[in-house]
Amino acid sequence: MRQKRAKTYRKALALYMRHFAFRLPLQLLFDSALVLALAKQRLAPADVPARLADVLQVRAAAPLGHRRPKAEGGEVKCMITQCAINELYRRQKDGDVEARAVDMAKTFERRRCGHREAIAGDECVRQSMGPTNKHRYVLCANSFALRAWVRAEVPGVPVVHANERSVLVLEPISEKTRERIDNLEVDKLRTDAHEASALGLSASSVAGSSRGATGDIVGLDAADAAEGSTPASAAAAAAVPGAKKRRAKEPNPLSMRKKKSAPTAAEAQQGAKSGEKRKRDDGAAPQGATATAAKDGAPARRRRKRGAGGSGAGGGGDDGAAKTTAEAAT
Ligand SMILES: [Zn+2]
Repeated sequence: MRQKRAKTYRKALALYMRHFAFRLPLQLLFDSALVLALAKQRLAPADVPARLADVLQVRAAAPLGHRRPKAEGGEVKCMITQCAINELYRRQKDGDVEARAVDMAKTFERRRCGHREAIAGDECVRQSMGPTNKHRYVLCANSFALRAWVRAEVPGVPVVHANERSVLVLEPISEKTRERIDNLEVDKLRTDAHEASALGLSASSVAGSSRGATGDIVGLDAADAAEGSTPASAAAAAAVPGAKKRRAKEPNPLSMRKKKSAPTAAEAQQGAKSGEKRKRDDGAAPQGATATAAKDGAPARRRRKRGAGGSGAGGGGDDGAAKTTAEAAT
């Protein structure tokens, strides 16, 4: 049961950290009522931060899964507003409150609220927190009114209070908070889509620029060949990205040079000769004019096929054809 609650708290804290940018150390803003309740439990002031760190599961909720040493106030900062501590002082004077509560509050960090005349503690906490809780306070309060206000008005505030059995509990995530998280997630989806489209654009532009760069290099070759007029056109191409792409495609040297080098006279003649030879061989073998030639030819072909390692249908068929021609010859 206790373990289950710890898990729930851990999840809740992780959620506050993820969606509402809570950071360690957590700033715990106390109201006077909770200080009184803790003092009544005779909790030593020095033990207060550790007790609250326990409730808030700060070690487990630390970002990046980083294990930190057990918080002795390290991951939680207990704070109290000027007006709230003044309230305790006043009540102590009236004999309403034991000195222990004041002593506990004195160990907390004093939060300057800017009220020259001390106002009611609850109201001061409310003003310090504001409508958005921009300082990311964890509200540690036993004032029912204060808790109700936060639950109804301010999303994203973890609230800790001491229940009837003096157990410190983290209140469940409020409707308001849940609503805000849902909205945030919708917004995030939208921004993700927006970012994706933006990234797509930038990726294409990057690709275009790199293509443009290679195009410029190729364009230089073309400029050497053509001479003169190209620098101006190259500049124009650089100015217009679409023109760049076209230029990059046009003088593809791999295709251009082959065409130029292929039809040389010597190569053409050689090609023609080899073609004739092949024709003559093909014509001679089926006729069985020279059996020895066919025999010599067949093993050589087989060896080549095996050496290549490929046992394709074409190779096998060719092999078979060679065999049949050899058999036919003998
Ligand atoms: Zn104040």
